[in-house]
Amino acid sequence: MIKIQNLHAKLENDKTILHGVDLTIRPGEIHAVMGPNGSGKSTLSNVFTGHPDYKVSSGSIDYFGQDLLNMSPDERAIAGVYMAFQYPVSLPGVTTLLFLQTIINHQRKARGDTLWDAYEVIQKAEQACKLVGLPTSFLERPLNEGFSGGEKKRCEVLQMLILKPKLIILDETDSGLDIDALKMVGKAVALLRDDVRSFLVVTHYQRLLNHVVPDHVHIMHGGQLVQSGGQDLARKLEDQGYEWLTK
Ligand code: ADP
Ligand code: MG
Repeated sequence: MIKIQNLHAKLENDKTILHGVDLTIRPGEIHAVMGPNGSGKSTLSNVFTGHPDYKVSSGSIDYFGQDLLNMSPDERAIAGVYMAFQYPVSLPGVTTLLFLQTIINHQRKARGDTLWDAYEVIQKAEQACKLVGLPTSFLERPLNEGFSGGEKKRCEVLQMLILKPKLIILDETDSGLDIDALKMVGKAVALLRDDVRSFLVVTHYQRLLNHVVPDHVHIMHGGQLVQSGGQDLARKLEDQGYEWLTK
């Protein structure tokens, strides 16, 4: 179980962004976090993965009995935390295939699992490419270099199919995606979904939630989760926008 309690986080300049977030995610659950721009959704995702720009001033994150906030970003990734970035970065000079091989084997080595050889990596990567709708020629291209917005997002999904993380955070993975790509994300989540893997789906719009159906929906506003509910809450936001929150 993942338990976030009273989480406060601020920037280096002491500007507080998260003002006490409480959230419990049980194994196998899909939680959606919705909310207006600037409400702190990405900050929550970033604090979860250990982004150095953010300082936790109080609160805790219990990750299956481990104190997540005391772990380095690398240790968190090895423990199965994965975040698909809202703005994926490119790695000039490193092919997508080499990147995939490096991250999967780094994690397998740390966990004491046997490493994947080149053949195994290529097979799994080509299979994943088909699923996300990227030509296998992308594996030979430097990671995200010159990829379109949609291709970058597909590549983020490709990585989670290879890594099979325990907690998958999708930060606005739907932004800039067309309907076919949204369906692709839904397919990938359905494929990965099981009794133990959990998802935190951060999104501004309801449309992704037609393809990735959450168990719980939360609204982030002013750095706090101000309401929780089911799919109906997401539909209310779609109909009425976010304005009623401030009334
Ligand atoms: P959301 O993802 O909900 O749109 P963010 O978490 O990205 O919101 O941002 C919350 C607030 O914190 C915004 O006002 C944003 O400008 C600010 N903020 C977040 N990260 C940084 C940063 N690294 N530097 C400066 N301001 C930031
Ligand atoms: Mg964001």
